[in-house]
Amino acid sequence: MDLRIDAEDLNSCVQCGLCLPHCPTYRVTGDEALSPRGRIRLMREVQDHGAPITSEIRHAFDTCVQCRGCEPACPSGVPYGRLIESTRETLTGAGELSARPQRLAFSVLAYPRLLRLGSTLLAVAVRLRLAPKRLGLPRDLPLRRARHVASGDDVYLFTGCVMDAWQRDVHHAGQRVMEAAGFGVTPTADLAPCCGALHTHAGLGPDARSRAEATIAALSVDGDRRPIVVDSAGCGAAMKEYGHLLGTAEAESFAQRVVDIQEWLADHLHRLPAVSPLDVCVAVQDPCHLRHVQGVHAATRTVLAPFVHRLIELDDDGLCCGAGGAYSVLHPGIAGDVRARKVDAIDQVSPDLVASANPGCSMHLAGAGVETVHPMELIDRALHGEG
Ligand code: SF4
Ligand code: SF4
Repeated sequence: MDLRIDAEDLNSCVQCGLCLPHCPTYRVTGDEALSPRGRIRLMREVQDHGAPITSEIRHAFDTCVQCRGCEPACPSGVPYGRLIESTRETLTGAGELSARPQRLAFSVLAYPRLLRLGSTLLAVAVRLRLAPKRLGLPRDLPLRRARHVASGDDVYLFTGCVMDAWQRDVHHAGQRVMEAAGFGVTPTADLAPCCGALHTHAGLGPDARSRAEATIAALSVDGDRRPIVVDSAGCGAAMKEYGHLLGTAEAESFAQRVVDIQEWLADHLHRLPAVSPLDVCVAVQDPCHLRHVQGVHAATRTVLAPFVHRLIELDDDGLCCGAGGAYSVLHPGIAGDVRARKVDAIDQVSPDLVASANPGCSMHLAGAGVETVHPMELIDRALHGEG
């Protein structure tokens, strides 16, 4: 079967295995087929040698978290993210991988009012203990959300779909921080309700492209060139890759406007007032899509350092926490084992707080009793005297 992987990309892997220690699914299973090298070998067998799609092959591709921890570890520069995205999209399109439940669940993401209504009902169900535990829903899903109010038109703050329904307070904190630096902020709110990151992750290529096109159109009216600041690592990573996803000059130009909020603030830190740091020791959890895909995890330290007593590094080489979009719901066993390694690394340094810049990671870690805060919430508290 043609997996529609670029032959040069596929052949760039020399099967050295240096990526193996950086792969969470290999670390918890020890199974070569669940490593980057093993998965690439299986891609070659299918695409180059016509191997049939067996349940073992399906399992290998299906259980990749798509954390892309293997990419920076690879001395040959193998673009693993592109390989697995093509593979999953082709197999999903051919019915070899099932994405029907995800497609159904994600169809609501483009309808923000419906999503908010459903989220409020879920919040009630969680409080009444009616929601199944295996869904891993946060206990503090909001029943109400303060409205978005634009304060100017210097920058957009991309607010997205699930994060806006479940963690809108983080957007408000990010907006207050940007305003404290002297910028007028336009939250994108219902203007651009979903970037398509979850669809890309699930192998739903056509849906992802349609969400990307809608987002570009909504935020580029009349030649609008404002920066688009993103406070969710997963959304930011997906939007920075629109050029590859859509293959157009317009998408490439749009992607150039996308900037992670920590990355943006690191460039404008001098505009924030000097304040007393919060009296807390904070461990930084690097979301994979910030560290491995966007490569801007250093900015999190830069912007947090002036506002907290001490930053603590985890001794786990930035290994994935196992969240991976809907991965933790679809593969709770492996996701739980991967998370246990992260929780061990956190326990070893005994922080007062854990900072995470991705809603999926924070919700997944909360399922193991680790409460996280977004870096912007900490900075906002320090700036506004809520120590
Ligand atoms: S992906 Fe890179 S590091 Fe991993 S086996 Fe292939 S060449 Fe080696
Ligand atoms: S993306 Fe993550 S889970 Fe998938 S092969 Fe690479 S390191 Fe392993």
